[in-house]
Amino acid sequence: MIELDGATGEGGGQVLRTALTLSMITGQPFRIANIRANRPKPGLMRQHLVAVQAAAEISNADIGSAAVGAQSLQFIPGKIIGGAYRFAIGTAGSCTLVLQTLLPALLYADAPSVVSISGGTHNSMAPPAHFLQRAYGRVMAEMGATLEIELKRYGFYPAGGGEIEAKVSPCKRLQPLELMSRGERVSGYAESFIAGVPADVAKRELAGVKAAMGWDDAQLMIRGLPHDQGPGNALLITLENQHVTEVFCAFGEKMVTSEIVAKKAITQVRQYIASGAAVGEHLADQIMLPFALAGSGRFTTDRVSQHALTNAEVIARFLPVSIAFENQGLFSSCVIETK
Ligand code: ATP
Repeated sequence: MIELDGATGEGGGQVLRTALTLSMITGQPFRIANIRANRPKPGLMRQHLVAVQAAAEISNADIGSAAVGAQSLQFIPGKIIGGAYRFAIGTAGSCTLVLQTLLPALLYADAPSVVSISGGTHNSMAPPAHFLQRAYGRVMAEMGATLEIELKRYGFYPAGGGEIEAKVSPCKRLQPLELMSRGERVSGYAESFIAGVPADVAKRELAGVKAAMGWDDAQLMIRGLPHDQGPGNALLITLENQHVTEVFCAFGEKMVTSEIVAKKAITQVRQYIASGAAVGEHLADQIMLPFALAGSGRFTTDRVSQHALTNAEVIARFLPVSIAFENQGLFSSCVIETK
């Protein structure tokens, strides 16, 4: 039984999600105390509870009782079974974080799977569905995973109600990958998604991107969504490079001007471009787990977050790997090796 302290490092939900994924894959049970101890509302929220229940269902795990607010949990996994699954978060809690808990495990299932998750698809503090498709999905595909992620319906905070569906084929061994440079830019574009929000919001956000990036109109797109999928607005900037695709995001909010939303997205893009790193802060913390499953890998990133350091610690509790970061000036490198 691996004993985890949820207050470790960042003390957020990732300690739990990484533990669930790796417990399913390695078959090692774990017990966690102080779940999300460093968050304003500690314990399991709907998103984390659904991740636990979904992981338990696909791996026939014994979890005893788990409820919203619980601050400790025991998880004893069984065999991972491929198949058709449907999970509902019931709030705007992030579908993508739940899906990311399950995806690596389903690669180790005995049969293909189709997983549908409903909830929020574009939340702040979580990967937007497009990030999962374009950035994380591309890395997984290059490591040999066959997965398709379809965004069926958008879900924004606070209404939720979105849905993503993933088709995953078993893949017994992920191939190691090196992402030391991003390579030349193949394409760059910005999209403003609006549901039940005036078109002017999207126009002003895209005008901000146009001025900052010097892009032409063909690279700026307003994506109007059905009103009943809102209200919501997300500005996404995608940079497709030779070796890696990155997606940067900012959300429209009441009392925040469209110009500020554009600036928030552009600041992230500029930091990434100036660093020369292959991957951005968020992709960095998300690819460490598949890289560790592959047994080795290396990448450069513009920022090593507390989130990434905490995730590295949890990964090393389940897998015989070392994960080392080194500051290289404008960027840092991360090297993952089997011990
Ligand atoms: P809590 O910590 O409150 O439990 P949580 O479980 O929802 O919250 P975190 O533990 O903070 O979330 O993890 C958030 C994850 O979402 C991290 O992997 C982070 O990299 C990712 N993420 C956050 N914002 C973005 C973004 N804009 N693009 C891609 N990924 C993101």
